[in-house]
Amino acid sequence: MYVDDDLHEECGVFGICASGRAVARLAFFGLYALQHRGQEGAGIVTCDGRVAHMHKGMGLVSQVFNEENLQYLQGHLAIGHTRYSTTGSSKLRNAQPYLVETLDGPLALGHNGNLINAPQLRRELLERGVGLQTSTDSEVILHLLAGAGGGDWVTRIRIMMAKAEGAYSLVILTRDAVYGVRDPWGLRPLVLGRLEGGHVLASESCAFATIGAEMVEEIKPGEIVRIDADGYEIVQGAPPQRLAFCTFEQIYFARPDSLLDGRLVHEVRQKLGRQLAKEAPVKADIVVPVPDSGTPHAIGYAQKSKIPYSEGLIKSRYIGRTFIQPTDELRKIGVAMKFNPLPDNLKGKRVVLVDDSIVRGNTSGPLVQMLRDAGAKEVHVRVACPPIKWPCFMGVDMASQSELIAANQSVDEICEHIGANSLAYLSIDGMMKALKAKDGYCNACFTGDYPFATPIPLIELQDKGIFQQALGD
Ligand code: SF4
Repeated sequence: MYVDDDLHEECGVFGICASGRAVARLAFFGLYALQHRGQEGAGIVTCDGRVAHMHKGMGLVSQVFNEENLQYLQGHLAIGHTRYSTTGSSKLRNAQPYLVETLDGPLALGHNGNLINAPQLRRELLERGVGLQTSTDSEVILHLLAGAGGGDWVTRIRIMMAKAEGAYSLVILTRDAVYGVRDPWGLRPLVLGRLEGGHVLASESCAFATIGAEMVEEIKPGEIVRIDADGYEIVQGAPPQRLAFCTFEQIYFARPDSLLDGRLVHEVRQKLGRQLAKEAPVKADIVVPVPDSGTPHAIGYAQKSKIPYSEGLIKSRYIGRTFIQPTDELRKIGVAMKFNPLPDNLKGKRVVLVDDSIVRGNTSGPLVQMLRDAGAKEVHVRVACPPIKWPCFMGVDMASQSELIAANQSVDEICEHIGANSLAYLSIDGMMKALKAKDGYCNACFTGDYPFATPIPLIELQDKGIFQQALGD
């Protein structure tokens, strides 16, 4: 099976409390803006203060929802979710949000991230007699909340946070409020916004513009925010840990029009490109991005190098992931389905091809060949992040270490493998400088320096295919 060379985020979350507004419809538009964070399933749960209503399904947001099912989703509270998962677990029962009934009314949850201690927590729940319907760590969080015992929901969330280790940005719906929770490491983003009639929560601020909301603030690591009919309140849920915001949110995942860590992602990516041009200059005639994710980095490279920016590849907007047999011939077809060259722009040119990242390295070679076939005289590949050598356990479906090309080959070997005239990656120092981050960011997939103490056994398990199975993700 051919797997594309993209990294895959695992989910986007959305929450809203707005009196007198069609919250299901607003959640639908919010999820639409977060579609890039998960394309395999979507769902919305609403509540009118008494009962909850849910609709979820497999596919894109636009495929899951229609006039009829949005009409059914009544209330002034809503949470929503877009899901990505690996193929094996693309099942409807794993689609979120999850909804259960408690003595205090409905409880629904949407989760972005990955708990690294989910197998232990799962076992503890099963030993306590809690039945689980799915194979996800998100359901584990739901039952930790449901079974946390007395007190209000903030107390229960705090109890859950004391047990959960890993990445979690959550939206939680109860009978009378929506809560947002960000893990104490701040691995995944979560933002709070304001709109007429209430407040909203989302993985990224790009969801706000779509629904006419404005940014209030980013939820800080370890914080809980409650939004209800009276407004919003933020409290600390757990003490902040070693801060570890995912660098890949800045490099690749987040939409360029989102604000992360106080800065516009598009601008951060241009900075990464400018730094790359400083570190890895080359004599060339044009700078060409691998669209669309490499575009801002290429603009930055062109700005700094003073080499003209040009489009050389057009990406099909209608292709999702491609699953085909891994022969060279079919791999080329897979890439050709996704990209087409613009020969008039490329003929006789020395090209700098700028990509945001290289994961398995199975797309770069066919792309370099495509540029050459279209007439490019030289192709110099520049990558706007350092070599990816370590897998991620914090909510990104990357690959096991044995599949990561930079974990197994030197830069020169990769250059030869992809058939480029030269290849250079951004340095770790250069990346952190462009992100303006001395610390506070996770860059474990480049350095192996994980924010948690336990990843090495997990790496071994993952390479044996056990970790993914245990989590079902
Ligand atoms: S290991 Fe990499 S992808 Fe995973 S959270 Fe850290 S920076 Fe992000």
